[in-house]
Formats: sequence, structure tokens, C-alpha cells
Amino acid sequence: MKHLHTLKSHTDTLAQNVFSLEGRLALITGGGSGIGLEIARCMAQAGARVIITGRREAVLQEAVAGLGESVDYVVNDITDLASTDDLVEQIELAHGPLDIVVNNAGINMKKPALEVTDEEFNRIIHTNLNSVFSLTRACAKRMVKRQHGVILMISSMAAYYGIDRVVAYAASKSAVEGMVKVLASEFSADGVRVNAIAPGFIETEMSRTAMNNDPERRDRAMRRTPMGKFGQPEDIGHAAVFLASDAARYITGASLPVDGGNSIGF
Ligand code: NDP
Repeated sequence: MKHLHTLKSHTDTLAQNVFSLEGRLALITGGGSGIGLEIARCMAQAGARVIITGRREAVLQEAVAGLGESVDYVVNDITDLASTDDLVEQIELAHGPLDIVVNNAGINMKKPALEVTDEEFNRIIHTNLNSVFSLTRACAKRMVKRQHGVILMISSMAAYYGIDRVVAYAASKSAVEGMVKVLASEFSADGVRVNAIAPGFIETEMSRTAMNNDPERRDRAMRRTPMGKFGQPEDIGHAAVFLASDAARYITGASLPVDGGNSIGF
């Protein structure tokens, strides 16, 4: 009985504390819609104060209105690399030190590789890779100094599998996965953890547009998803809370698939 009692109180402590983000400040790019919005909601529900960014002020205002008092926004285009350091500095001046950054904002385009122009390729790489490095560096240099922080990348299973017509997107996400391992290694002794989440097919504006324009693609995606349904943005939000929390304190350099089983194999 004594043993059971000890186990129970340990479980209570786990349930109460270890997944909590109480007292943490999180920055989430592209937090006004889709996956980013649900990461913001889940992190706020876990107790964090949250700053979301995006290019459309009206979208951010609406998101913040629905998320409550612990969430604020900053209008920012992540591709404007000259403003990245200033963004982080202004947020920290206004709200205090950042504990968590989630590189969620991203763009995609579906086109056969031979039709993709240099301009299109560069635009996707610039948004999904260069901007992610720039913001991560701006946050990490402060986190390393404080010996504390969590960096999350929203990658994609496109980093791992040959999904046709997304050549630039797949290249950008594969590169992000590579970056996670290097940064996790470089910061591992500095109290800063770096991990990725690799979503499968998640129902958002980005995926709905693509699937609605191409029903055959939708059928194929469904056939490739063992759980037989697409994911919801909050499925990524829950994983993000876990990886940002102390429950994941011994996890760094990992990529967590949240994909209804896509990664079991095609
Ligand atoms: P959405 O298109 O629904 O949302 C993308 C968000 O990013 C928007 O809020 C947009 O806001 C913001 N954004 C885009 N470009 C910029 C920019 N230059 N500067 C600042 N913000 C920007 O996409 P999802 O929610 O579906 O995708 C979120 C992430 O998840 C992406 O990285 C995507 O690659 C990844 N992912 C999604 C999957 C899915 O099935 N949905 C699957 C695998 C990965 P605004 O336009 O106002 O700037």
C-alpha cells in the first residue's frame, strides 16, 4: 500500500507540474491561423504567456481576441531578416525573456519540379529556411547567455518522403531537420533544447487549398495515412506543449512525427 501511495503522489506531481508552461514566455511565428494558432491556444492553456506573429494584422487581432489575455501579437514578416533581431529585442523589452520560440510560419507551393522557377524556389527557401535560421539565431544567442530555452521547428514529413510536386518545400524542411541536429548539439551544454515536430496531413488553410484543388491527391494522402483520418491543428499544439515543457527535459535533437502513422511507411 505504501508503495502505491508513493506512486500515486508521484503521478499527481507529474500531472500537475511537469507539462505546465506556467511562467514561460513563448514566441510563435505564423500564430494567427492554422497550426500556429492552435499551438498558441494549447501553450496559453498550459499556462504560458504567448506572442504570435504574422503579416496580417486583422488576422492576428482576431486570433488574440479569441485566445484571451495571456496572448499578444506583433505584426512581422519573417522574411525581413534585417528586422529579426529588433523583433526579439522589442518583445523581450516589453514582456521579459523568451523561454520558448516556435518556428511555425511557412509556405508551400505545388508544382512539378521542372516548372519551378528560381524565384519560386528561392521564395520558399527564404521563408521556410533562411528566416527560421535568422530568428532562431536571434533567440538562441539570448537563451544561451541565460542557459535556458526551448526552440521548436515545425517541419514536415515532406522532409523524409518523396512527395511529388513540393521540391522547394521538401528541400527547406529537410534542411530545417538538419539544422535541428546541429543546433541541438551546439547548445546541448547550454540549457537550450532544439527539437522538430514533423506533421503529417493536418487540416488547415494550407492543406485544404491543396487538397480541394486536387481530389486525387486527397485520396492518395488518405490511403497513405494508417489511422484513416487527417490530423487537426491541436494535435500539433499538444505535441508542442509536451516538447516545450519539462516533461521533455531530456529530449533534444529529435524530430517527433505527428502524422496518424504516415511514418510507419508508404
Ligand atoms: P497556414 O497557411 O494555415 O498558416 C501559415 C501561417 O504562417 C499563417 O498564419 C501566415 O500568416 C504565416 N506566414 C506565412 N508567411 C509568413 C511570413 N513571411 N512572415 C510571417 N508569417 C508568415 O499553414 P499551416 O498552419 O498549415 O502550416 C504551419 C506550419 O506547419 C508550416 O511551417 C507548414 O509547413 C507546416 N506543416 C503543415 C502541414 C499541414 O498539413 N497543414 C503538414 C506539415 C507541415 P500571414 O499570411 O498573415 O503572414
